[in-house]
Amino acid sequence: MENLYEKVAYLRGLAEGLGINEDSKEGRLLLSIIDVLDEFADAINELDVKQAELEDVVDSIDEDLEKLEDEVYESYDEDYDDYYDDEYDEDLVEVTCPNCKVTFYLEEDEYLNEDEIECPNCNEIIYLDELEDEFDDEDEEYEDEEDDEYKKDK
Ligand SMILES: [Zn+2]
Repeated sequence: MENLYEKVAYLRGLAEGLGINEDSKEGRLLLSIIDVLDEFADAINELDVKQAELEDVVDSIDEDLEKLEDEVYESYDEDYDDYYDDEYDEDLVEVTCPNCKVTFYLEEDEYLNEDEIECPNCNEIIYLDELEDEFDDEDEEYEDEEDDEYKKDK
């Protein structure tokens, strides 16, 4: 900005050195133009100062926002982990209702401790022991065969 003031000052000195004054129409015009250039230099200087102030404000907002983001996302991550732990880390057992064929999930604890549960869809009582047999049928047969062979070897 100093450069602008210097240039205007140079023009003013030049006009004076060339003997330009307000006696002629051209002189009045040229000196008026130099006055206007001076006002431009002032206005631009003022803008420059305000712009620098704004940049400081924006920088500090940016820093604050960054801190906020860190806190928000950090706690979001923690919340997410908690949620994940609570809701999904449990071992879930898939149960299909023999009556309405709707599949739902039981927590393993519940599945192991209860003999029967009510279907959340049709409210029929489901006997978990019977379900277990149904699902494990093939495995049990296979295990039985193995056991038989084992016994034969003995
Ligand atoms: Zn059902």
